[in-house]
Amino acid sequence: MKPKIAFFDFASCEGCQLQVANLEESVIDVAEVVDVVEFREVMTNKAESYDIAFIEGSITRPIDEKRLKAIRKKTKTLVALGTCAHLGGVQRLSNQWSAKENLKEVYPDAKEKDINKNEFFEKPHHKAVDEVVKVDYVIPGCPIDRTEFIKVLVALIHGKKPPIPDYPVCVECKKKENICLFTIGKFCMGPIARAGCGAICPSHGSECEACRGYISHPHERAQIDVLEDCGLSADEIMHRKTMFTYKYVEKEKEESK
Ligand code: SF4
Ligand code: SF4
Ligand code: SF4
Repeated sequence: MKPKIAFFDFASCEGCQLQVANLEESVIDVAEVVDVVEFREVMTNKAESYDIAFIEGSITRPIDEKRLKAIRKKTKTLVALGTCAHLGGVQRLSNQWSAKENLKEVYPDAKEKDINKNEFFEKPHHKAVDEVVKVDYVIPGCPIDRTEFIKVLVALIHGKKPPIPDYPVCVECKKKENICLFTIGKFCMGPIARAGCGAICPSHGSECEACRGYISHPHERAQIDVLEDCGLSADEIMHRKTMFTYKYVEKEKEESK
């Protein structure tokens, strides 16, 4: 019997599912070793249970939590797919403001009475999947890396722990012999961001913003000291800490209460 795998999306751009749908020639290899039983983006089939459920997207409303818990009950293994599921995604930034403030910012011309009656936005609060149900594994990144997805799938099929790196992006960046962005007046979260992307951003001259989250034991204080020494204001540092990783900031706030 082939393992049954399923994909589910919550609040997301569906870019991570698209990475899987676009596996190209590897799709045939995948189809030979697993049964894809549910994947709304590419098929209409439904299933009653799964061996591996991949969850994309942040969990936003009570109705989403209910749906996610039902999926958890039906699957042996649950994998958070991409930054939205892993950390709550860029959309988690909106947790900083009330629902009405967010609505007014996005729809400045909306009438007050329409904003007040919009029940959908009553209590949005973006969460990562592991804040609602047990997550067995994470495939990080925005979007996920297709090669890494295959590696994780192969490991899971063989009952092994998926090979997600737990060292910083700087390691991959140094191996590529890139010029460090700090030496040319730019900034980078590479020293505390989780590797596995091949340091793709700094390799193309862009700052790493830690879309893959932090390594297990980041020297976060040292990273902030470096950014301060480079002249960044508290707001600029917070910007770099919140783009993809506002989950950690919320956790810090919670712990300091
Ligand atoms: S992690 Fe990025 S690519 Fe994946 S669903 Fe979220 S926003 Fe889209
Ligand atoms: S550019 Fe960024 S990832 Fe590369 S070595 Fe410098 S700090 Fe590390
Ligand atoms: S370099 Fe940083 S921001 Fe870019 S993909 Fe890798 S972890 Fe994400």
